Amino acid sequence: MEEIVVLAEHRDGELRDITFEMLTIANQLGKENDMAVTALFLGHEASDLSNRLKGACDTILLMEDPELAHYNADHYLMAIETVIKSRNPIVTVIGHTAMGMDLAPVMAARLSLPLVTDCVAVNVVDKKLDVLRQIYGGKINAQLTMKPSDQYLITLRPGSFDAEVEQGKSADTQTVPAPSWTDLKGRQFLGYIEAELKDVDIAAADILVSIGRGIGKPENISLVQDFADSIGATLSCSRPVADEEWLPKSRQVGTSGKTVRPKIYIAFGISGAYQHQAGMKNADTIIAVNTDPRAPIFTIAHYGIVEDMFKVLPLLTEKFAK
Ligand SMILES: Cc1cc2nc3c(=O)[nH]c(=O)nc-3n(C[C@H](O)[C@H](O)[C@H](O)COP(=O)(O)OP(=O)(O)OC[C@H]3O[C@@H](n4cnc5c(N)ncnc54)[C@H](O)[C@@H]3O)c2cc1C
Repeated sequence: MEEIVVLAEHRDGELRDITFEMLTIANQLGKENDMAVTALFLGHEASDLSNRLKGACDTILLMEDPELAHYNADHYLMAIETVIKSRNPIVTVIGHTAMGMDLAPVMAARLSLPLVTDCVAVNVVDKKLDVLRQIYGGKINAQLTMKPSDQYLITLRPGSFDAEVEQGKSADTQTVPAPSWTDLKGRQFLGYIEAELKDVDIAAADILVSIGRGIGKPENISLVQDFADSIGATLSCSRPVADEEWLPKSRQVGTSGKTVRPKIYIAFGISGAYQHQAGMKNADTIIAVNTDPRAPIFTIAHYGIVEDMFKVLPLLTEKFAK
């Protein structure tokens, strides 16, 4: 049976959401094309963490070594190379994260693998990989069919697939010995420095209440904040609001901001330009409030209110604050 290998991503003892997002699409491809799904876990003393993937794949390949305790491109490359050469998976999937962007191009060159990065959809058609990626800042969707190959390498854009992967499987764990690192003198892991978190992480919020230029002036933000507080939501925004510095840049949703995937996204006074949609269109439920019935946000909203947000907001706050 052909195999899809997903490179599990973890940091500081936590699995990253992208791992589950990759497993979601890998399982879908596996089901449709009769392929086994394998999670490759590189780490050190990490069996507890890797076991959390048991329900979401057919096999866990666990390679443990002190040198794999933290991400180091040199060691990761050698480790993955060993696995790919011995197992010849048809597809290897890596997250389009800082780690994946560092790894994938070198892997593709070293192993002569065809690579497409930053994919937002993947299908197998006639044994060839069909992928979708966005170009020109999300303005154009490019559908690519990869040339026939025995093996493919892709990176997936975070937030493009469901992180709630179906947990019906019961994977076997196979331990794989780490290769010898003797001649590896390139990079050394010195320490991990967490970026200073000056604000909340909107990507982690379950409910986002988002404001656009329709808010008019910063003094009006408190009205939206009251509503957000009444439903336990976090405030986010479109680019003009961040550009005006009415909210910090870290709250901006979109191609030049953050990609979010909350359970509920409520957009007030946001037109829904494609650069904004690209960052939020995968929210479970989208609710839009806009005076313009032709605003593009309504093309992706599940629920819409064509009305002045300043009339709607106090009513909603009153309703939920009770
Ligand atoms: C390279 C590039 C990257 C970009 N990246 C991003 C990005 O990451 N994120 C992003 O958001 N944008 C981004 N943009 C900008 C994007 O193209 C749009 O200009 C922007 O999203 C528009 O923001 P908006 O919807 O808040 O404002 P507008 O498009 O001006 O829309 C305001 C909306 O508010 C409505 N409105 C006005 N008053 C009210 C009211 N009282 N009640 C209800 N509705 C009201 C209007 O009908 C209108 O639809 C980018 C652009 C470029 C070129």
